[in-house]
Amino acid sequence: MTTRRIFVCGNWKLHKTVAESVELARAVREAAETVGDAPVDVGIAPVFVSLHPVAQVLAGGSVALAAQNGYWEPEGAFTGEISFSLIRDVGCTHVILGHSERRHVFGETEEEIARKVRAALDADLKVIFCIGEMLDERERGEAQTVVHRQVTSGLEGLTAAQMDRVVLAYEPVWAIGTGKTATTDQAQEMHAFIRSILKESFGSDLANQVVIQYGGSVKPSNAAELLSQPDVDGALVGGAALKTDSFAAIIEAAVNVARN
Ligand code: PEP
Repeated sequence: MTTRRIFVCGNWKLHKTVAESVELARAVREAAETVGDAPVDVGIAPVFVSLHPVAQVLAGGSVALAAQNGYWEPEGAFTGEISFSLIRDVGCTHVILGHSERRHVFGETEEEIARKVRAALDADLKVIFCIGEMLDERERGEAQTVVHRQVTSGLEGLTAAQMDRVVLAYEPVWAIGTGKTATTDQAQEMHAFIRSILKESFGSDLANQVVIQYGGSVKPSNAAELLSQPDVDGALVGGAALKTDSFAAIIEAAVNVARN
């Protein structure tokens, strides 16, 4: 039997002013109060400069606060970087790492991402570790090979205690911000494959506990169907997390799935 909870997290990317972030965070806090005792967790990942005021809005509530990136060194001459200990210090419990925009727009390598994962865990953060193939890789039949390599390079050698603080987010790059969603079959197939990789590396018990989110144009109209798949345990939501109504509707869909 699995005890996995559904985890819905909004990735705000480079959107919203500080004032807008505070306003949306208040609305998300309110929406998350409707979760009640359903096994659903909610999180948001604003831009760095909004983390402090948003942490104050979320204080004492149930909404998790995530950063969208971080740097592995704790301090030093690294102009423009933010350490994981500072991310923790500002009130975050989570950090998103390996997002496809970090990989493909900013050229982060698998080695760098793996280093960040370890440093974030050392700083006592939970990691939302993103993986996913590009369209040409899927078309060449290489989706599983790519995802296998990303999972093993990012997580290899982690202890069970560290894996306890890792959430995976499968985000096919061709579905992010494009309006295209993987079919429920495509999502379930890849999620089951990812869980099988985790079984190989960490054993069945641990693999069955790991939350694997789906990301890629999740919206109110497709959330329930995606979340109903046996290996889809949550959603990392970009565009639809920027408006209260759509994000609240996705939370509601998660609660309905969790209760059924
Ligand atoms: C994301 O930001 O990780 C994402 C999946 O974006 P969108 O929901 O807009 O596709």
